[in-house]
Formats: sequence, C-alpha cells, structure tokens
Amino acid sequence: MKALVYNGPGQKDWVEKEKPGIDKPTDVIVRITKTTICGTDLHILKGDVPAVTPGRTLGHEGVGVVEEVGPAVRNFKPGDPVLISCVTSCGACPNCKRQLYAHCSDGGWILGHLIDGTQAEYVRIPHGDNSLYPIPDGADEEALVMLSDIMPTGLEIGVQYGKVKPGDTIAIIGAGPVGMSVLLTAQFYSPGKIVMIDMDPARLELAKQFGATDTLQVGEVDVVEEIMKMTDDLGVDVAIEAVGVPATFDICQKIVSAGGAIANVGVHGKPVELHIEELWIKNINISMGLVNTNTTPMLLKTLNSGKVNPGRLVTHRFKLEEILDAYEVFGNAAREKAMKVILNA
Ligand code: NAD
Ligand code: ZN
Repeated sequence: MKALVYNGPGQKDWVEKEKPGIDKPTDVIVRITKTTICGTDLHILKGDVPAVTPGRTLGHEGVGVVEEVGPAVRNFKPGDPVLISCVTSCGACPNCKRQLYAHCSDGGWILGHLIDGTQAEYVRIPHGDNSLYPIPDGADEEALVMLSDIMPTGLEIGVQYGKVKPGDTIAIIGAGPVGMSVLLTAQFYSPGKIVMIDMDPARLELAKQFGATDTLQVGEVDVVEEIMKMTDDLGVDVAIEAVGVPATFDICQKIVSAGGAIANVGVHGKPVELHIEELWIKNINISMGLVNTNTTPMLLKTLNSGKVNPGRLVTHRFKLEEILDAYEVFGNAAREKAMKVILNA
C-alpha cells in the first residue's frame, strides 16, 4: 500500500509500505476513505516531536471502511463504515474508566505518533471496539473527519475545561482549525460574546461567519486594551488559548476577569511565564491537557441533529496520492487561505 512517511526533520515521502495486518486480537484494519493534514503533522515534520521516529506513517484524522477485524472485536465487521478517533484506548483500564483515554495504560496512542497513522491506504487501529465509531449511511464524511481530533479538542480542552456558561464573555486566541472548533462547540453553551483573536484577517473574517460576535487582529490593535474596553474593565470570563506560544498565553493572563478561567489548548514547545502573583489574587482557574476524545459520541449526536456543521472548515480537497501537493498548500495556510485540507482515497 502507499503511505506518507516521516523520514526525519524536514523529510517526508509518499512510499510503498507493507499493508498492516491483525497483530492483536482487538485490532481492526481500516481502509481509509478520507483523511486530513493537521497542524500537528507540521510540528512533527519540523522535528518538534522527537518521540516520532523515522519510518512512521503520519496522520491521525480519518474515516474509512473496516477491512479486517481481530477475533476479539465485537462491535465491527468487515464493510462497516467507521470514524477513527485520534487516540486509541482499551476502554477498560482505570484511566479509561474515567474517560481519560489519552492516558490508557494499554494505549493512549495517538495515531501517526507512536503508532502508524491515517495518511495511508490502510491503518491498523488497536482496541478497535473503543477507538472507532460506527457511522450512519449517507453521513457527511467531511464533517465526520473533524470529529477525529479537532472538534473533541475544542469542546473538551477549550469549552468544557474552561467551563463556558450561558451569557459568558469568552475570548478564543487562535483562529486555526482548533480555535474554530472551540468557536463552534462553545456555541452549544450560548455564551453572550465570543471574541476571536488572531493575526490573520482572513481567518478572523471566517470566524465571524462561524459565529464570533467580535474579532481582534493582533498587530493591528492592542488586544488587551480592546478587551478591557469591551468588558467595562472586567476582562473575559473564559480565555481560551489555541495557538501554543508564550505571547498568546500571556494575553490570556492579562484579559481574564476575576473568578475567570484560562483554558490552554495549544501545545507549547517552549515554557510560558506563569504570573501566579497576579492570577492568585484574581481567583483564576487554569486548565490544560491532551484531548481524550470522550465527547465524540456527543458530537456525533449534534452532527446528526444538524446543530453544527464542522464540514464548513474544509477549504481544500485532494486525492490521497496528491498528498505532497496538499502538504504544500497546508504548509502555507495563510497564503493559500487554507483551513482544513481533505484527502480522498
Ligand atoms: P494553526 O497553526 O492552524 O492555527 C494557529 C492560529 O494561531 C493561526 O490562525 C495563526 O494565525 C494564529 N497565531 C499564531 N501566532 C499568533 C499570535 N502571536 N497571536 C495571535 N494569533 C496567532 O493550529 P491549529 O491546528 O488550529 O492548532 C492550534 C493549537 O492546538 C496547536 O498548538 C496544536 O498543536 C494544538 N492542539 C492541541 C490539542 C490538544 O489535545 N490539546 C489537540 C490538537 C491540537
Ligand atoms: Zn485503557
């Protein structure tokens, strides 16, 4: 089969690779029909994630069709259309019982990280029963792919950890696919104001179409000053960081109101300055973490009810074998006005 393989910092190749087979009785082999490129793949390619070793197939978002199941798999059979969770988990260990799937003692593997991923014709999914979701015939597969990672990330780590409540004023920093997923899922909780903050005016424009009530462009305005003007000097109830750099975490610390929350979603490669001396006196909650994809069943229901359409995040489509061209576009997202890039097998 063909797969997109990481070959060390700055090196990727579309190569012929052995098709995966059943290794453990709980494995499921899925034939990929749609996958994506994610910002995390770009981090890996830069060499920012040393745990990923050369030879690894990248990708952790996708839908497909079950090709083969191990003898212990109960919920799936060949031919079933499935949504793939970016985290694989046994569902039975103490952490899985608390829905901390990313911390499964027999997995918690992110596809395309410590195990081979979805940017290939086939992928092996360990613990298939707990790591795949059946999808109804005729479902919008582009919308579904957004449920592999970004939508649960936005909901779990941004909105739920931040405890967004009806009427709240919230700020989301970073209008990439993850920040946009925060924006879409925050609306389940009817916040009063959603201020989207980014440096890219095109992304801010899109954020308005997706429900942001206000936008602020870093570099054009003093974001902290503007937020204080908007909130009668109180600050925002919830500040959600969806970039992963010290500057944006710092903005969160400055704009959060007394009794408010900072929900950090971004993956930080560098330490941030934590101003406990200022946050303590303001009674601030700070949260962060890795997505567990434990909200996927809930998100599937919201898709079915038509409450949200994350398929709108898709801006570009390629054939799977055109993946190197797709990386070129996604790697220059601002220039290409790209948000989510879909690869069709
Ligand atoms: P992205 O790079 O597509 O988007 C980031 C956005 O931030 C861009 O629109 C960019 O213009 C903006 N930005 C960059 N620097 C900025 C600055 N100084 N001020 C304001 N805006 C700035 O990334 P993404 O795919 O949307 O992911 C966002 C973050 O979420 C990344 O750090 C990613 O690794 C992380 N992530 C976390 C989890 C998790 O489990 N917690 C899961 C997936 C992704
Ligand atoms: Zn487990």
